[in-house]
Amino acid sequence: MSNRHFERVLQKNKLCGICFKSYNNLSQHLKVSHTVRNQEERCLLLKYGSARHYGQLTCPICDKANLARLDKHLIDLHDIQNFKDRIPVMRQAKRAEIKKKLAAIRMSNPPIPMVSALDTGPDLDNTGSDNGKAESSSASFR
Ligand SMILES: [Zn+2]
Ligand SMILES: [Zn+2]
Repeated sequence: MSNRHFERVLQKNKLCGICFKSYNNLSQHLKVSHTVRNQEERCLLLKYGSARHYGQLTCPICDKANLARLDKHLIDLHDIQNFKDRIPVMRQAKRAEIKKKLAAIRMSNPPIPMVSALDTGPDLDNTGSDNGKAESSSASFR
């Protein structure tokens, strides 16, 4: 019976793009734990957390850019009929767009320094799953 509740909790949880753990209140977490003071950065990290992006996407499979409807493209060109199979691909594409925007902010030399390093690191394909081991490899970055 509590299964449904559990699902809702999962949906609410957002992935932190800095420590790659899920948080219910990501906004608060970014402020308190990582002191992300750059508002633009925080806004993008929130979008990254829920993999939310409105606009055109690039297909992660064939690199076709400017797709207004990636979901349709995945069905028509890659024959991914199952909605569940499309979710991770869509998520990857959306997060790739958000990374590009973070990179753009970094390029502009923001007055408030950025905390995250999503756009500078290697692509983490398994960000959806909880991986505690990945931390040590990225810790040596600085
Ligand atoms: Zn975090
Ligand atoms: Zn494609």
